[in-house]
Amino acid sequence: MLLKQIKDNTDTLVDEIMNRFTKEDLNTITWRNFIRRTRPYEVKFTKVLKGLFKQQEKEVLSNMRKYPHPNREAQIDTYMEVLKQNWLSDWLFAEMMWRRRFSNAGKPFIGGVLEDVGQAELTNLVVGIDFDIDSPAVISFQKKFIEKYSKVVNETTLDSLRKTLQAGVTAGESIPELSKRVGKVFDFADKQRSLQIARSETIRAANFGAEEAYIQSGVVKAKEWLTSFDERTCKIGCKELHGRKTGLGKSFGKQGVSADLGYTDGEIPHPPLHVSCRCTLVAVLIE
Ligand SMILES: [Zn+2]
Repeated sequence: MLLKQIKDNTDTLVDEIMNRFTKEDLNTITWRNFIRRTRPYEVKFTKVLKGLFKQQEKEVLSNMRKYPHPNREAQIDTYMEVLKQNWLSDWLFAEMMWRRRFSNAGKPFIGGVLEDVGQAELTNLVVGIDFDIDSPAVISFQKKFIEKYSKVVNETTLDSLRKTLQAGVTAGESIPELSKRVGKVFDFADKQRSLQIARSETIRAANFGAEEAYIQSGVVKAKEWLTSFDERTCKIGCKELHGRKTGLGKSFGKQGVSADLGYTDGEIPHPPLHVSCRCTLVAVLIE
């Protein structure tokens, strides 16, 4: 009798406390928890990427010293002739090997944050099951996005290096001058791209993990877009999606999707919507 009374009183107290929170308060808590959980992965992944870019820069600079520089005295009639020479491929880093290195380096962060967020969501839903990291959906997501990220990252770097080195050689620049151009490409990778890449991949894997947890739980009927409360990051596009609901496995829409996010046919299954997006999802429960 006494125990029942204590339980009833506690339930009333919990209800009263919960009623004091508005939907907005709960959203803020959800988003803060999401950032608290994903941030350590983002920070460490950024650091690892910076290290990889440093090694790549060393490789390119050492190639430039090793292989013959197009002769400044030689008559270079047209820009196209410069492009035909194979000095450029000698100088650039070995793409396939670096794709593998980036894939291997990304795996623990992408897989780790996916599992961590997936498990946390299942714990919140109080369904008493563990997150299944070996589900076919999880395996195929990891395979697809780990390969995709390392491909896109290395293609982007190579593209920048090609453009700037071709311009420098065409202008007849010396090795120290050309090295400075290489330095600029990797300086940008260090100061901006590393964090952007780490953030996009972390947020993508985390949100996939959340949705997969909703599916595995069996108690969630839909997902709701929760826009980042970080003013610096999500000004465009995401605000329109805030509060929008869609079924599990479905898309939030097609508008405003930048091609480099790599979703099929421009559909948006979950955040990120753009570079540096920090939005997340909220579960809509089956009543
Ligand atoms: Zn966003």
